[in-house]
Amino acid sequence: MPDDSRLQPLIQHPPRSPEGKPPGAFVEVWIPRRPDRPLTYAWPRDLGLPPAVGLRVVVPLKRGRYSGYVTRVWESNIPPGKFQIRPVEWVLDTRPLFDDELIQLLRWTSGYYLQSFGALIHAAVPPGLHAVHEAQVRLTRAGKEFAGKLIARSPARPPPWARILFYLAEARQAPVRRLQRVLNIRNPGAAIQYLKARGLVEVRERVQDPYRARTIRVIHPVREPEPGDRLSDRQRRLLKHIFSFHRDILADEIEDHPAYSADRLRRLERRGFIQTFTQIETRPLYWNTGETDANPTLNEDQRRVVQAILPALEPSRFMVGVLFGVTASGKTEVYLHLIEKVLAQGRTALVLLPEIGLIPSVLRRFTLRFGNDLAILHSGLSGRQRLTEWHRVRHGAARVVLGTRSAVFAPLSNLGLIIVDEEQDSSYKQSDHPVYHARDTALVRASLHRCPVLLVSATPSVETYARARADQYRLFELPRRAVTGAVLPRVTIVDMREAYRKTGDPFFSPELMEGLSAALAGGDSAILLLNRRGYATRVICRACGATASCPNCSIHMVYHRRPTRLVCHYCGHESPLPKVCSTCGETRYLSTQGLGTERVLNLVRARFENVPAARLDRDVLKKPVELFDTLAKFQQGEIRILVGTQMVAKGHHFPRVTFVGVLEADAAAGIPDFRSGERLFQLLTQVVGRAGREERPGQAVIQAYQPDYYPIRYACAQDYPGFFNEEMKYRRRYGFPPFTSLILITVRHRERERARALAEELHAALANGLPPRTTVHGPLVPFLWKLRGQYRYHILFRTRERKALREHIRTVLKTFQPSRRQVKVDIDPEQIL
Ligand code: ADP
Ligand code: ZN
Repeated sequence: MPDDSRLQPLIQHPPRSPEGKPPGAFVEVWIPRRPDRPLTYAWPRDLGLPPAVGLRVVVPLKRGRYSGYVTRVWESNIPPGKFQIRPVEWVLDTRPLFDDELIQLLRWTSGYYLQSFGALIHAAVPPGLHAVHEAQVRLTRAGKEFAGKLIARSPARPPPWARILFYLAEARQAPVRRLQRVLNIRNPGAAIQYLKARGLVEVRERVQDPYRARTIRVIHPVREPEPGDRLSDRQRRLLKHIFSFHRDILADEIEDHPAYSADRLRRLERRGFIQTFTQIETRPLYWNTGETDANPTLNEDQRRVVQAILPALEPSRFMVGVLFGVTASGKTEVYLHLIEKVLAQGRTALVLLPEIGLIPSVLRRFTLRFGNDLAILHSGLSGRQRLTEWHRVRHGAARVVLGTRSAVFAPLSNLGLIIVDEEQDSSYKQSDHPVYHARDTALVRASLHRCPVLLVSATPSVETYARARADQYRLFELPRRAVTGAVLPRVTIVDMREAYRKTGDPFFSPELMEGLSAALAGGDSAILLLNRRGYATRVICRACGATASCPNCSIHMVYHRRPTRLVCHYCGHESPLPKVCSTCGETRYLSTQGLGTERVLNLVRARFENVPAARLDRDVLKKPVELFDTLAKFQQGEIRILVGTQMVAKGHHFPRVTFVGVLEADAAAGIPDFRSGERLFQLLTQVVGRAGREERPGQAVIQAYQPDYYPIRYACAQDYPGFFNEEMKYRRRYGFPPFTSLILITVRHRERERARALAEELHAALANGLPPRTTVHGPLVPFLWKLRGQYRYHILFRTRERKALREHIRTVLKTFQPSRRQVKVDIDPEQIL
């Protein structure tokens, strides 16, 4: 028989436990729809499997039924409390979603970030396992009779309840959502209620997975036909074909055979020649096309780094390495090589990237390298694809995972190496529900698995590099570009104050124009970066000076042209372009100010009429087809100028690009956050690094109104250590990480007074009994004092006693249980806005 563990039976509904039977154990269950606190349930002996942390269960609560995760087990038949305890009704899984190691990691994450353990399990499983609740409507016998009579009379314009009856007369039963969709009834609830009250239908609530993983039919040969067996010619031919494989085969491997038919297969199974069963799809999402990767031989620098890392790949060695190399120095090539070694040892590897869907070239490279061994986990996949990929990992069919943030919890076992590429990227931090940092969680995962983790970057975060300098992490460097002859681009800063005085052009300096024209004339392509979407930054009234701002947030709205509207970049609120000023009522003085990518593209098109140009930003990302199309055309040179936000800076490898221009490099300099300098340096270095990645040398022009701002100066010099030293001085002076640890508490409420009162009360409680070497500030009014309709206050801690402070906060927050939803705790905040 085939390996049974691979068969993942889909949802099962074992019989409900008869009331009164003694329970075998008690469990704590965290319910996503009731996230405030876990509840206790009894585990009946006859549920079919023993209780375990990480199983999904369905439990009764009040008059409903809910799905939840088992977060704790008490092996006892004495209830852990005095309250009345109801039994778990059924289990949605046949084994826990995670193995012990991962459960341990999730526990750590929950403890460290003060997040609920259940919420973390929920975040760690693919959405395809987030069970949905569905009410199923069924025709009763009376309903069936009545429907028959009604149909005979066939009213001309049946009311909704009659349409439901007609539908059910055919389908017998249907989920409410389907009735709504198929019959196009806006609110079927009232009609169903009407039918139910008359005993014509029954409603039953079901809890189930939203969809199933992709499955395939597997054919297991049992016994070869003998001369005595009475078989048709086609049956005999099909069997012969099946037995010629000498192994289990997938139905679609033989579908092309002339004698194949599903019916015939069934008949052969009934007669015992074969067995068939359903299995989770284990083949990769992206079929290996048979192309092979260039797979370059490593250069000397790369070989040196690989040699230095290899000893750490011995089993049971934990190490944190920092792979610090300039842009296009071949860092990816190095870790691909290391992963091959790990696979050869029979172990698995996890690669985290900030964005994957955006970068088709990365997907291609990984697919070519690892073929069937690769699984991909990111939010751009359909729910079903993601679920299938997750199962492939869980069942050991895929040994390399390439994923974004939540893939840090990918169910790999026997891990041999973790890679965190672009480790400085802030999208590794999930900032709400639940809060965790995937890079830091990856470090802990590596220590639990006792394997190395490699943090990869051309611009490491200040904290990471500081630890490498202090020998807490091991540093590996690639100081040169990988392709022979490739060099770092030549970068010029342009002082826009001066350029504007000379030319009167507020957008493009002569230097940028020359560089761009030269690249285009030479047949090359160019990237222009402006880190702001939309057409213009804001709409102001030149009569009274008011700026159109978002009704939900303390921020101005951005003017978008196509389609014309104002958009809040924080909450997504949209409104039409105002015709009158909402403050003073003037109609003639409204005008737009500032520059966005939409407008830059128009300006570029006006100046280079015959050069195809396109835009890449989050507005384009909403339509993935357009995005891939744009990227592919730019790669092939059909688009020659790409205008975009920070999305153009990320991870792409465009061999044709030799020129990069940056507009308003200091646009973000006014954002009051302790990481804004670091972010700017990283962005500029990354985007400049897109130029001249292969033989032809690159050039970049950075335009700024404050050209002396240190992140710009150091990015221009492509001097990471220089920037690091300067940034460390600032961090030390103001007591920011890595010199302290931060914990940020945000209090939010729809009413300003309630928010403030709660913030003050919480601050007073927290300020009492602080651990040593810790300071608390607040309540502070943040830059974003209103966000998504909620008023916000900050309480900020700086500490050198992180653990003690965390315990202190945990204890105090317990006494604030009822207002817990208004309070967000952010350990190691990425930003303080
Ligand atoms: P990084 O990850 O540092 O940006 P990559 O690994 O993507 O760098 O390499 C940049 C480019 O150089 C890619 O096109 C890659 O194929 C190429 N490259 C990397 N290593 C070598 C090598 N040893 N020989 C030739 N080309 C290489
Ligand atoms: Zn808003």
